[in-house]
Order: sequence, then structure tokens, then C-alpha cells
Amino acid sequence: MKILFLSSEATGLIKTGGLADVARALPLALCQKGHDVRIVLPNYLSIARTQNYSPAIPSLGVSMGDSKLFCAVQQTRLEKLPVYLIEYHDFFLRNHPYEDVAGNPHPDNGERFGFFCKAALQLCLAENFIPDIVHVNDWQGALACLYLHQYRTTYSEFAGTRSLMTIHNGGYQGHCSASARSFLEIGDDWFRAAGFEDHGQINLLKGGLRAADQLNAVSVGYAEELRTPLGGHGLHEYYEARKEAFSGILNGCEYEVWNPSTDPFLTTSYDLGNLSGKIQCKSALQAEMGLKEVPEVPLIGIVSRLTRQKGFDFSLPAIAKVLSKKVQFAILGSGERWIVEKIARLSEMNPEKLQFHNGYNEALAHRIEAGSDFFLMPSLYEPCGLNQMYSLRYGTLPIVRAVGGLRDTVWERDVSGGDGTGFLFTEPNADDTLAAIERGIDCFTNDSASFQNRICLGMRQRFSWKNTATQYEKVYSKALKSPIN
Ligand code: ADP
Repeated sequence: MKILFLSSEATGLIKTGGLADVARALPLALCQKGHDVRIVLPNYLSIARTQNYSPAIPSLGVSMGDSKLFCAVQQTRLEKLPVYLIEYHDFFLRNHPYEDVAGNPHPDNGERFGFFCKAALQLCLAENFIPDIVHVNDWQGALACLYLHQYRTTYSEFAGTRSLMTIHNGGYQGHCSASARSFLEIGDDWFRAAGFEDHGQINLLKGGLRAADQLNAVSVGYAEELRTPLGGHGLHEYYEARKEAFSGILNGCEYEVWNPSTDPFLTTSYDLGNLSGKIQCKSALQAEMGLKEVPEVPLIGIVSRLTRQKGFDFSLPAIAKVLSKKVQFAILGSGERWIVEKIARLSEMNPEKLQFHNGYNEALAHRIEAGSDFFLMPSLYEPCGLNQMYSLRYGTLPIVRAVGGLRDTVWERDVSGGDGTGFLFTEPNADDTLAAIERGIDCFTNDSASFQNRICLGMRQRFSWKNTATQYEKVYSKALKSPIN
């Protein structure tokens, strides 16, 4: 198949979250299966500053409402994958892809990503690459599904092309002013409740839910939750309305990067057959974080964006309580100030038990995964989650809330009541979080057979991208066989 993969970020070029990892790994896995996949990204300031690329199209005309804008298209590669970079300085030459310095969305995000979507389709004509599938990701790509309807009627080449929209995080929807409608060509028939209209504004993700031929979320659990009032971020009925075309496909894990036997960031390597290296990783981590090097004290790691989504409202009170016990925490994260301040305060009050590195640090993230006994991920919602998969591979037991992708990848008991791979809780409150942490600590302290068994079970789990790519192939085939939505 020919697949055009639209993403607003991709690891190796620009990354703000998990979407970037998917936008690299999934196209690579599809390419390995023999598909012709091409990625399209905006050419942001940080890419323009750091990457080598060559011109693909010096000037590409893109009609937006009554205007015609001209952009350049640059070409680079992610390993062997061709990547097109849409270059339009007024829209993309900015420090952050989505936000200003104060963390507010750029006010012209609708125009920026609408233009990106239209330019992506237009470049297919210029490059004579007519895709079978236009695969878009989150609100940033939603308008490509609308424009594909136009292109199918205007250009016969596109008659057989179908779209898939993947939801990586339904909490971000791309709201913008209705004044952008004419530029974005959102006509009256699309600006209604079952479409882009949301309380008089444009909601790009919502419109994509109607315009896309097929839809999926990044785990089965999250796809189910999106269809419920509690989990749908206000759009549950629109997911429900498309349930025949809506599925869940769990992301894979990049085991070439996240492998304790080959990880270059670790001082000592280890694997299932030889776990002694993990004990050394623990003391190295304790030393690096400024914690006492005591093997008998359970060490709990956190690597996270510091946002409400990650459950800090209720997990921080639970952490404060559990600090009365023999326990250590190694926390790495960056994000919202109120969370940074609360964690820093906990650390100041309990320096021998909790150490916090405020920032983004890939190497330390690997060492926390390897050196911790537990990894805490108590998310309010979690579309898929990657860190719990890394933890399993590194023999670090995840303590997670049973939501979205977390409940698809971690279990506490098997069907016959035997050991699972981690510890789970259901309700988003401090008491349940605390109880799950305490069950983990109890297992560590009093039941080393069960603790070791859980480590081994977890380390044997595999969430391969190859398997994930096979599931995407099935959805693509379904889209190609279905009539236009
Ligand atoms: P999300 O995409 O919601 O942030 P995921 O668990 O899906 O959550 O993916 C987060 C990714 O970002 C992981 O690869 C994780 O290791 C990485 N990450 C998050 N915060 C940091 C940090 N402060 N330093 C290093 N890596 C981080």
C-alpha cells in the first residue's frame, strides 16, 4: 500500500510526547512489511536549525479559502523513510509546535494545521504519489480527512484513497475561532454538531471524527473509554456514533531502544537470565539521585510529563503518606509549575527519601527504568502509555491506575489468581493509590518469590511494533473496502 502519514511530530526530528515515538516506529514497521510509507511534518524552527534536508518542491501552491499560499517542501529521511517537511515560515518558524512561551496555544493553530493538511495532499499530486491511505494523527491532522473529501471529487486520482484518524490523546481537541472557517473551507454542512462545530467554535478533532473514513485509538481500553461520558473528553456520543468504524490498536514498544541488555545509558547491563546487574543499576541510581545506597529499601521511580492527566492531584497526597515508611522515590519530570513546586517541597521535607530531577533527561529516564523496583504511573487517563511497557521490559514492576492502555498491558492477578505483572487500582483517589503502593511494598518486603515471579513475567511480555503494524494493515484494508464515509 501507499501510505501518507501526517504527523505534527516524530522522534528524531521533533518530540513533545508519545505521539512522536509512534510517528517514527509505526511507519518504520509498516515499511519493513513492504509498504511505501511517506511521512509529512511541518518544518518547525528547531528542525530547520538542526536537520540536514534537501529541496523537494521549491514552490507548492495551496488554496485556502480565497487565498493561495505558496510553501516550499523539503525532503529528509528517518532511517530509510522519506519525510516531507512543509516549509511556511509565517506558520512554522516558531519555538514550540503548538504553544507560545506562556504555554497558551498559538491563536492561529487552526490555520497553521489546516494549511499543513492541505499542503500534504497537494504535495501528493506534485510528487505523483497518490496514497491508498492518508493516515492522520490527532487534531493536527483532522482537516486532511475533510480535504480528502474535496480532493476525491476534484481529482479522479484520489477516488480510491481513504483516511484513518488515530487518536493519541482525545483531551487535546484543537479548538479555534469560527472566524477561521472560510480560510479552512469548513462549509455549513460540516459546521454542525455532527462535524466541526462546538459551542460556536471550531473543534478540529470533533470534525475529524465525522470526516475520517476509519478511526482508532491507541489502545483497546482507551477506545472503549472514549465512548463513555466519563472518558470521552466531552465527545463520547460522536465516538459512539462512529463505533462501526472505530477500533483500538495498542502501540508497540521500541525494544531496540529499551532493552536492559544493550542499553548504553546503563552502567551495568542485565537481562532475564542474569538479574544481578539490576541490583547494581539500583545502587548507581540511588547514588546519582543522592539517595542512600540501600538495596533493602524499595525504590519507586516516576518519569512523566508533569500534568494533571498523569494523576498528580491524587498521587502526591498518597506519596506524602507513604513517605512515613521505608521507601525511596526517584522522580524525573517537567511540566506544570504547581506540580513541580509540590514535588520539590516533598523532596525538601524528605531529602533522604525523595529526590526530584526537574527537567527532560533521556539518559536518566533509562536509568530510572532500570534502577527502580517499581514504576508509578497513576494516570487520570492514559491513551496507551509507553513507560509501563519499558518498566515491564526492565523488570521494574508497574504500579498503575487501571485505565486505557495501562489496563491493557499490566495485570495484578492472572485468571487463576496467580501473580500478575504489577499492581493496579481503579478509583482516582489518594487512598486507592496508596493501597496499591502498599501492596507493592508488602510484596517486595515479605514475599520475594512472588516479587521475583512478577519481574520475570513482566520481562517476558512483548508489545511488538510488528504486531501493531499488522493490526493497522487490517484497518487500512477495511477502510479501502468500505464506501466513503
Ligand atoms: P505521554 O505521551 O502522555 O507523555 P507516554 O508514557 O506515552 O506519555 O510517553 C512519554 C514518553 O516521554 C516516554 O518515552 C518517556 O520516557 C518520555 N518522557 C516523559 N517525560 C520525560 C522526562 N522528563 N525526561 C525524559 N523522558 C521523558
